[in-house]
Amino acid sequence: MRVYLDHAATTPIDPAASAAMAEASARWANPSSVHAEGRAARAALEDARRRVAAALGWSGAVVFTSGGTEALALALASSGGAHFAGATEHAAVRLATPDARSLPVQADGTIDLAALQAALAGADRPLVAAMHANNETGVLHPIADIARIVRAAGGRLVVDCVQSAGKIDLPDADLLAVSAHKLGGPPGVGALLVRDPAALPTPGGQEGGHRPGTENLPAIMAFAAALEARADRGWAARAGQLRARLETRVAAAGGEVIAARSPRLPTIACLRMPGAEAMLQLIALDLEGYAVSAGAACSSGRVKASHVLTAMGHTERSAGEAIRVSLGHATTAAEVESFAAAWEALAARLTPARAA
Ligand code: PLP
Repeated sequence: MRVYLDHAATTPIDPAASAAMAEASARWANPSSVHAEGRAARAALEDARRRVAAALGWSGAVVFTSGGTEALALALASSGGAHFAGATEHAAVRLATPDARSLPVQADGTIDLAALQAALAGADRPLVAAMHANNETGVLHPIADIARIVRAAGGRLVVDCVQSAGKIDLPDADLLAVSAHKLGGPPGVGALLVRDPAALPTPGGQEGGHRPGTENLPAIMAFAAALEARADRGWAARAGQLRARLETRVAAAGGEVIAARSPRLPTIACLRMPGAEAMLQLIALDLEGYAVSAGAACSSGRVKASHVLTAMGHTERSAGEAIRVSLGHATTAAEVESFAAAWEALAARLTPARAA
């Protein structure tokens, strides 16, 4: 029996989303076509746009994209002055704006507000990227405070909400990126929520000119359905209780719970087994039936210290001993307890001196 605890990488497609995709096969036409079939597809597309905005509590515009990465790239291509980005941002931000000035985080993983204020002093129309929930640690940045500082500096704020959307309420900002495959929708679809679409580039003929390429209507309809299926956030609170139980056991067995006292998304645990390389842990746990990851899914496979943990003050060695365990909508207490037992047994095996 396999236990999947890598929901922050991708979570299974919700049955409501699968049903919506099947239903979309009846609206297979191109939403840009003028005939009746095309108009029906356009109506379905605009209906999905309204539903996504409503489910996310968003009153501005919604531009559908191929996922979180494209939404962030579009946001960071919007007009403005110098770019600034949190030191623990996802590769999607780091690659889209490689020359951005890095904003340090504190040891608890949150952006240093005093450093942000100092960095923005004198900047002309700064564009600041700050993620809502970190994908490796779950740490939640104080977005309301960050937004206040950015606005006072005359800038705009881009928030990567890929991990938080569908789990907790989204913050208010100028541009927010979301992705369907992290919340029960299919991969390859996401959205940029934008207050002022006039600031976005217009490279194409779809999505208000902000995107070239035929809209992926079945995936977009499934995205809307998945978000609605996550409207009751009780599951995320339950996941938080399961995570607390896991972290208590790991700490008692000699492990370190990274950012244990920081405000965090309830679904992600970052667990360090002192003295045991993360890759060894992953392989051993996989052989025993547990799917977890080291750092970001996109960088697992590469033995490279996490930039997130080193930015928080960990040495490369200690950062290389941490794994990410992420819970999903359907994760059960039995799965988490069984993983905790596997972690304890592995710690006793890989770090016997500690366990003794
Ligand atoms: N931002 C964060 C925080 C993520 O965790 C991910 C995916 O791992 C992305 C952006 C990229 O999203 P997508 O896979 O939809 O392109």
